[in-house]
Amino acid sequence: MEVKKQTQALGGGVPTAQQLGAINAQAKAELKAEEVYVFSLRLCDDQVDRDHERFDTEALPELARMFVGKSGIVDHQWSAKQQVARIFEAGVVTEAGVSYIKAWAYIRRGGAGDEWIADIEAGIKKEVSVGCAMGRSVCSVCGLEYGTCGHQKGNVYDGQSCVAVLKEPVDAYEFSFVAVPAQANAGVLKGMGTGKASLKELADRFGAQEEYRNLYKQAALGQEYAGLLADQTVRLCLALELGLEEKLLRQMTGKLGTAELKALCRALSEKADRKFPARVQIAASEEAGDWDTGYLI
Ligand SMILES: [Zn+2]
Repeated sequence: MEVKKQTQALGGGVPTAQQLGAINAQAKAELKAEEVYVFSLRLCDDQVDRDHERFDTEALPELARMFVGKSGIVDHQWSAKQQVARIFEAGVVTEAGVSYIKAWAYIRRGGAGDEWIADIEAGIKKEVSVGCAMGRSVCSVCGLEYGTCGHQKGNVYDGQSCVAVLKEPVDAYEFSFVAVPAQANAGVLKGMGTGKASLKELADRFGAQEEYRNLYKQAALGQEYAGLLADQTVRLCLALELGLEEKLLRQMTGKLGTAELKALCRALSEKADRKFPARVQIAASEEAGDWDTGYLI
C-alpha cells in the first residue's frame, strides 16, 4: 500500500569529506565541497501518527536504505516538478525510546537551490512530504492483517488503542518540499481564489524571496515581543495582587492585541510605580520603548 507522511527539514551546512564521498557516489558529475549544501531530514518514525498508523520499528532500517538516492523535488502549483535535493545517506536513530529515519540530503549551490538553502539557513520551516510503499499493515490489537479483523484504527478496545502497524517496506519514493509560511502571514491570502497559495509560494514565484525572509524574521521578532509584553503584564498583575490566577491571566493576555496589551502593561506599570515607589525594575520595561520603532508587522 502507498503511504504518505509529512516530515521536516532540519538545519545544514558544508559537507564533511566522508559526506562528500557519499554524495559523489550518487551524483552524475564529481562535486566539490563548496558546490553543495547538506542538511538533514527526519523521515518516518515508529510513533503513532494522525492517521492512527505507525511504522514497525523493525521495518525502519530497510526503509532507510530505500530512501538513499531518492530525489527531493519542489512541486510548484505553477511549474513543472523541479529536482533540488537528493538523499545520500540514511539510517535509524533512537532517542528517548523513539526510533526514526534520519536522512542526509544535498542541494547543489547556485540557481534555484540557493533560495532553498537561504530558507533553511533563515530557519524557515520546511515541511517535507515523503512517500513509500509498504507490503503489510497489521492490527495492533490482534495481530491480524488490518482490515480483516473488524478492529478499527483510532478506536479503543479494552483500554488498548487500535493502530495499523506498517511492515515490510517495498519501495521509497521521491520526497517533496512544501514551504510553510510564517504563522503571522498564514491567513493573508485566503481570499485570493486558489485557497491554497501561501505567501511563501508567491514570493518564490515572483522573485520576492529576500523580502519574504526579512518579513519572516521581523514576524518572529514581533511574536517574541508580544510574548515578552504578555509576560510582563502577567507579572505586574501578580505583583499588584489583583486576586487572579496566573493561568487565567495568561489566557486573558493571550486574547489581547498588541496595542491593547501595551496600554494595559503601561497602566499596570504606572500603578505598580505608585504602589511600590522604590520597587526594583520588574522585567525589562525600559527596553520596551526601543521596540516601538522596530515592530513593523
Ligand atoms: Zn484486529
